[in-house]
Amino acid sequence: MLIGPAILVVFAVSFAAIWLRDRRLQYLLFFCAACLFFCLGTLSQILAVPDGHGPNAITSALLYTLSVLLLNDGLLRRSGQHLNRASYLVILAAICGGIAYFFYVDRQLIIRIYILNFGYGLICLMTAWRLRGLRGGMFAERTLFWTLLAFSVHFFPRTVLTVGVAAPPAAVFGASPFWLALQFSLAVLGVMLALAIFAVTVSDMVADLRHERSADPLTGVLNRRGFEENAQKLLDDARAWPISVILVDIDHFKSINDTFGHPVGDAVLKGFGHLLQNAMRQVDSCGRIGGEEFAFLLPNCDAAGADVFAGRLREIVRRSRFDGLPEAHQLTASFGVAAARRDENLNALISRADIALYRAKRRGRDRVEVQTEEVAVQN
Ligand code: GH3
Ligand code: MG
Ligand code: MG
Repeated sequence: MLIGPAILVVFAVSFAAIWLRDRRLQYLLFFCAACLFFCLGTLSQILAVPDGHGPNAITSALLYTLSVLLLNDGLLRRSGQHLNRASYLVILAAICGGIAYFFYVDRQLIIRIYILNFGYGLICLMTAWRLRGLRGGMFAERTLFWTLLAFSVHFFPRTVLTVGVAAPPAAVFGASPFWLALQFSLAVLGVMLALAIFAVTVSDMVADLRHERSADPLTGVLNRRGFEENAQKLLDDARAWPISVILVDIDHFKSINDTFGHPVGDAVLKGFGHLLQNAMRQVDSCGRIGGEEFAFLLPNCDAAGADVFAGRLREIVRRSRFDGLPEAHQLTASFGVAAARRDENLNALISRADIALYRAKRRGRDRVEVQTEEVAVQN
């Protein structure tokens, strides 16, 4: 009988241990707490603490319900949603109130079983509904969704099956076949759910590492490596053509460092990165490829489209205010645009955009220059 609680403790410790390694995965703490509360619920029933059937039924219902709520909250939090405090209170009050009523006022074991199982089934079904987007996710996410759905649904037939079966006297309920079968199916599906959660956690950690490897920590856009990887993928994708590149270089950036200090320079770069990221489409790629030099790769965009976008960026930069710079300081940037050709690689494409950028600098900065193929031939 103590194997269940022991497994739950192992799971709780594992969730906590993974969280210690990566504190950003806060939802793991909810799973840890869910395991611990479920463990306490089981112990309270096995060890008959508190003594007396009424207090024990209510205490264990409280602990189990908390566990189910924390589990669902954790699942939602992993996807950027959550269970609000009012839901916690309403559900706890409804379930524990129901258990108390059908013990003290109108003593009915079957109805108490219904309240717990249908209650938990409905809570999990609601979460599965809110997480239905996972069906289109990675393999681990799809597995998690379908396991959660099976876990939710299993609460219903199990309960219905007990109707018609004579309810055992409450005193021997804990040792009844029904209770053991109930614990067993819950254990099997619970372990499957926990394993699915572990799998999705691992895939989250891998995704985080991948992001860290390819992101620029100061500006939030891709670093050079991430940009080149993304750009190459797009160049290899026939559906992405026509493709254009824009190189962006902040004008007279050195003087910002010299006049206001390096930290202000950093703050400006940070603001600049956010501004670029907010301006682009979701399909575009933006990376910091040098100190104060950024690059865009724009799929399904020809030179004319990229020219228009660069012009818009130029205006946005001119209109923006940057942390640490005085109001009067006008920040500008220069832009070099080039449309990809089928016969060139990423480096050649960027070099051509760089020629346009250099021309923009030479012609007075704060402007957009397009490297057309004709000019490229002349160069
Ligand atoms: P131009 O208009 O010709 O582009 O002039 P510029 O001053 O912007 O260009 P230059 O290449 O001469 O100077 C770039 C400066 O950017 C020099 C370097 O100290 C600064 N820089 C590069 N990376 C960082 C960084 O991460 N933080 C800060 N604060 N400054 C940086
Ligand atoms: Mg510059
Ligand atoms: Mg530069």
